[in-house]
Amino acid sequence: MIQEIAAPVRERLLPFSLPSIGPEEIAEVVECLRSGWITTGPKVERFEDRFRRLTGARHALATSSGTAALHIALLAAELKDGDEVLTTPMTFAAAPNMVLRAGGRVAFADIDLRTFNIDVKAARQRLSPRTRVLIPVHFAGLPCRMAELERLCRERGILLLEDAAHAVGASYDGRPIGSIGDMTAFSFHPIKNITTGEGGMLTFRDERWLRKLSLLRFHGMDRNAWKRYKAEGSPHYDIELPGFKYNMLDIQASIGLRQLDKLDALNLARESMARTYREEFGGVEELFLPQDPPYAHRHAWHLFTVLLRTEKLRIGRDAFLAELKREGIGTGVHFQAVHLHPYYRGLGFRRGQFPNAEYVSDRILSLPLYPRMTREDLRDVVLAVKKVLARSLKT
Ligand SMILES: *Cc1c(COP(=O)(O)O)cnc(C)c1O
Repeated sequence: MIQEIAAPVRERLLPFSLPSIGPEEIAEVVECLRSGWITTGPKVERFEDRFRRLTGARHALATSSGTAALHIALLAAELKDGDEVLTTPMTFAAAPNMVLRAGGRVAFADIDLRTFNIDVKAARQRLSPRTRVLIPVHFAGLPCRMAELERLCRERGILLLEDAAHAVGASYDGRPIGSIGDMTAFSFHPIKNITTGEGGMLTFRDERWLRKLSLLRFHGMDRNAWKRYKAEGSPHYDIELPGFKYNMLDIQASIGLRQLDKLDALNLARESMARTYREEFGGVEELFLPQDPPYAHRHAWHLFTVLLRTEKLRIGRDAFLAELKREGIGTGVHFQAVHLHPYYRGLGFRRGQFPNAEYVSDRILSLPLYPRMTREDLRDVVLAVKKVLARSLKT
C-alpha cells in the first residue's frame, strides 16, 4: 500500500521536448544526400522562398543558427563604440551576447508582468541618445505590442530587430511575425516549433541590407558556391569583407522544407495542449498561468510556462522541478534573467535592477509542450504537477 502511494506518475521520464521528425523529413534528407549536393544550394533557396511567403517578408536569408542570424543583423547595424542595444532580460542570452560581439553595449528594460514581454513604458524610459537598436523577444511565442514598439523606433530612428526564435507562425494584429520589424531572426534549434537540426532565418524588408547580410553570412564572398559550380558559373569570386561561415546546408533545408508543410498542424497541436493545461490548472492558486494580452494575435505556443507561487509552498522552484523529475516529468527553466548571469554581473548588472524579470526568473518553469506528446502524456504532467503541489503546500 505504501509503495503504491509512493509510485511515481510515470516509470519512464517524459522528455521536456522532442522534435517532430517523420518519414517525410527523413526521405527528403536521404534524397538530398543521394543527390550529390549537400551544402548550400537549391533546397536552401526553396526554403528561403517558402519562408518569405509564410511571413510576407521581402527577403529571407537562411543561416546556421538563430544566433548567427542575430549576429549578422547586429553587424549590419554597424554599432560604434558606446552605441546601445535595448532588449529584455527575460530571454536566452543569444541576442545580448551577439550585441557584445557586434561591439555594442547591452541595455535592458524590465518586462510586463502579464505577458513577460518587454514593457513598452519601461523601454521608452530606458532609451538614450545612444540607443541604436531595439530587440523585443516574443516570449514563449506571444507577440509583443508591436504597434507601440514600431512607433517608438520610428520616432527615435532606432532599428527594430525582433528575436522571433519562439514565434514562427505567430502573428500580431493580423500581420505575420517576420514582416513587421526592420529585421526578424528565427531559430530552428530542435527545441523550437520547427527544426532543421540547427538553423536560423533572418527576414527583412529593405533591399539595402541584402548584399551586406549575404556577405556577412558567407566569407564576404560575392557569390555562393552553388552558383559558381553551375554550368554557366565562373570559378572566380571576390572577398569584399571578412565574413563568417553562417550558411545553412541543403541537408538542413531538406528537413526545414518538410517541417514547413506541417507548421500549421504543429502549432495547432501546441495550441490545443496549451488550452488543456490552462483548463486543468485554471483553479490552482499556486500557479500563475499565461495570460491573454488585450490585442489581436496568434500565439505560437513555443513554451508553456507557469510561475510557481513559492510564497504558498514549502519548497522553491528548483526543488519543485526535482520532485517533478522524480514523478517522471522533464521540465525546463526559460529563463534565468540574463542580467543575473555571471558575465553580465561582471558588466555591472545586479539584482534589484529589473524586479519584474527577477520575480519571474525566480519562479518560472516550462512544462512539456510538443506535438509528439499524447493525451496520456499531457494527463501525466497535470497529475504530477497537482501531486507535487499537494505535498508541498505550507500547512
Ligand atoms: C533559441 C533561442 C535563440 C537562439 O537560437 P539558436 O538557433 O539556438 O542559435 C535566440 N533567442 C531566443 C529567445 C531563443 O530561445
